Amino acid sequence: MSTRRDFLQKIGLSAITIPFLTESEQMKEQSSNNPKYDGPVLRVAIMGLGGYGTIVAEAMKNCKSAKLTGVISGTPSKIKNWQAKYNIPEKNCYNYENFDAVKNNPDIDAIYVITPNSLHKEQVIRVAKAGKHVICEKPMAINAKEGQEMVDACKKANVKLLVGYRMHFEPKTLEIIRMRKEGELGKTLFFQGLSGFVIGDPTQWRLNAKLAGGGAMMDIGIYSINGARYMIGEEPSWVTAQETKTDPVKFKEGVDETIQFQFGFPSGAVASCLSTYNMNNLDRFFLDAENGWAEMWPSTNYGPIMGRTNKGELNYPHVTHQTVQMEEMSAIILQGKKPIVPVDGEEGLRDLKIIDAVYEAVRTGKKVMLK
Ligand code: NDP
Repeated sequence: MSTRRDFLQKIGLSAITIPFLTESEQMKEQSSNNPKYDGPVLRVAIMGLGGYGTIVAEAMKNCKSAKLTGVISGTPSKIKNWQAKYNIPEKNCYNYENFDAVKNNPDIDAIYVITPNSLHKEQVIRVAKAGKHVICEKPMAINAKEGQEMVDACKKANVKLLVGYRMHFEPKTLEIIRMRKEGELGKTLFFQGLSGFVIGDPTQWRLNAKLAGGGAMMDIGIYSINGARYMIGEEPSWVTAQETKTDPVKFKEGVDETIQFQFGFPSGAVASCLSTYNMNNLDRFFLDAENGWAEMWPSTNYGPIMGRTNKGELNYPHVTHQTVQMEEMSAIILQGKKPIVPVDGEEGLRDLKIIDAVYEAVRTGKKVMLK
């Protein structure tokens, strides 16, 4: 049977202080860890030095097996700032025109693409052609056709393609998945996912269909799609969806404001979800099963994630999601580690196929069957 400590070690969290151990247990725990890390280090260049790129860079400061060694940006002043802040040499700095030259840079193993959604496809394919591994932010692309091209290009170039699904390494999320997998909840029956917030500045790229590839569904609704899959533990076989638009000026053609959508799974389980750019306080997952239930609220923000089941509160310590993600992705890329929940290009593609089906269901008003 897995213990709590086995579980934390499996997900690479053994080096953090664990509050539910006694002081002497904690000291034993710490002395059993090698304080001087001398394993492999993934050297990463970030492409797109915006809001999320900054969060990832800050979180990587605390990684032992991943290090920021380069940048790719269209803004020279940001490059200068990042060079000073993260000690990045001139030879590891690129812009969007010249980054193919990263091919000849031995200081960079992988590029983390953190730019607007519709740019991911071309950028990821160029990185693959330059022979570097790629981590790409969610949504991996703006539709499944593009996602497939990215998966194919990375396969052809023999590089790894990972997607920034940070929740796949979050301890409370993983504990619910463990309970479900080990049958502690019984047969899963129903998932509810609520994902939304009120978006601000109407001029931002997230409200520009060309750059965002859609609206709330691409940005935040994807968490409920991905969450439905890892909480239920199956792939949906059908989708229905309905759109509501209260502000067609802010949410122009091609930018969805609010979509409610439903999934059916092969086992008979069902899901009911909401994706919106026009309501706050929506970051909640609920899983109902034959012998129990699990709730997370908040379920996907930067945390602390709060979770409880019919057995009580989940007391795992808060971790910085992006630090754990980068440690785990280093192990996946450099050591072939298999994550508990996949984060590869195929996983990104599964969500894109479902997003395509949600949009088709909105457009046609019909139930869309998934292969
Ligand atoms: P920002 O707007 O804050 O940053 C995007 C950066 O991309 C810009 O600062 C810019 O950097 C670069 N860029 C290149 N071309 C363009 C363009 N035409 N318009 C605007 N920016 C451009 O966005 P975020 O960092 O919030 O989002 C980036 C990606 O990360 C998205 O795919 C988003 O979904 C994802 N994301 C994921 C999160 C997660 O929790 N996993 C959280 C937030 C975002 P530069 O000036 O250096 O070129």
